[in-house]
Amino acid sequence: MAVFQAAPGTRDILDPQSARWRALIDVFAQVAGSAGFGEIRTPLFEDLGVFLRLGESSDVVTKQMYDFEDKGGRRITLRPEFTAGMIRAFVQHNPALPWKAWAEGSVFRYEKPQKGRYRQFNQVDVEVLGTADPMIDVEVIALGWQFYRAIGLTNVRLVINSLGDAQCRPVYLAALTEYFTAHLGELSEEGRATLALNPLRVLDSKRDQDVAVVVNAPTMLDSLSEEARAHFDAVRAGLTALDIPFEIDTRLVRGLDYYRYTLFEFVADSLDSAQNAIGGGGRYDGLVAELGGDDVPGVGFGLGVDRILMACDAEGVFDAPDRSADVFVVDTTGGLEALKLCSQLQSAGVRATRAYDNRSMKSQMKAADRSGARLALLVGSNELADGVVTMRPMRGHSIGDPVGETNAVQRAVAREQILIEVEKFLQ
Ligand code: AMP
Repeated sequence: MAVFQAAPGTRDILDPQSARWRALIDVFAQVAGSAGFGEIRTPLFEDLGVFLRLGESSDVVTKQMYDFEDKGGRRITLRPEFTAGMIRAFVQHNPALPWKAWAEGSVFRYEKPQKGRYRQFNQVDVEVLGTADPMIDVEVIALGWQFYRAIGLTNVRLVINSLGDAQCRPVYLAALTEYFTAHLGELSEEGRATLALNPLRVLDSKRDQDVAVVVNAPTMLDSLSEEARAHFDAVRAGLTALDIPFEIDTRLVRGLDYYRYTLFEFVADSLDSAQNAIGGGGRYDGLVAELGGDDVPGVGFGLGVDRILMACDAEGVFDAPDRSADVFVVDTTGGLEALKLCSQLQSAGVRATRAYDNRSMKSQMKAADRSGARLALLVGSNELADGVVTMRPMRGHSIGDPVGETNAVQRAVAREQILIEVEKFLQ
């Protein structure tokens, strides 16, 4: 019989990693919530046209989309990122400005799978629509920074750049094109192909040949308009005021074409350079109008959850939460008492588990040991007849002994008192 495996570039996340995952999203929800962001849950798939607006020169749009025709003949794509879908929702629902929204979930890109690069991966994302104030760029960057701090990451660098605005960017693009054209022979074949699509993307080529040419290329920062320069200066001043260290990298461009003004990336130096980008974003004034809305400015980021957890591993922080049971119920009378006790304890929020299949006392105690529970509750025929339950602290845990003699003994507790006594013990 065929044995199936998860499709290439996809993964199963099992407990305890899944518990850690959930805890990570909880921290993000907390950090974003404190900053006034509300959650939005958008569909996993959208009309292909939504994402085509992201720019025809980005690999994400041209090569990596999971697009298909559905049974109704619609052109559909699995979301390759969050921003465009969130803007589509914004245009559709017209919420009050400024709109501050966060989202989390899977995104899909047809990439060559490797460590830290998947076809289904996960992001947390924020977008702010409705203000061009550079202070909001700072707030968004600071939110990402705070999130990394909240989960305990310290080996993270913030890199920023400006991509200019509608006035200065075309001037810069022309200068850049002129420069690269003059050095066409020195570029790699791929570099030349990229140049034809978008000269900016040549700047982040990793090929040695291209890198050698890029070193002396003109930079956007030298061509900024007065307004774009003022915006960039304000962002830098804001970051400095918040004591957030940053580097400026004039070669920083990003996979998607829509960025204007501020661009930033978070780099985890604990990871290999092929997957050390753990998040990034920027300002994208103009994209809302592209998607049929008013000309509303926006700024946001997407952080890669899979890679953030890899960075946590590398730094030895943000362990999986301890989710072992509090209480293990051992029942040698057939199992019904364990069923009732577990149900009562679980309803009261106590993590209770038990053994099945009417095993021997010895085998159930072994299972209790393995479970990591702090307390075993024993019900045998004597307990059942006397209307009591025996509380036995597990290895390394002590029982609150009312008589104050030894503190590691077991004791019988009236069945109707058991919840109160268990809660006291677990306190
Ligand atoms: P992007 O939407 O391309 O700006 O990516 C935002 C973040 O998502 C990156 O900084 C990475 O952390 C993460 N990321 C991008 N592509 C992948 C991938 N194929 N697998 C895992 N994480 C990814």
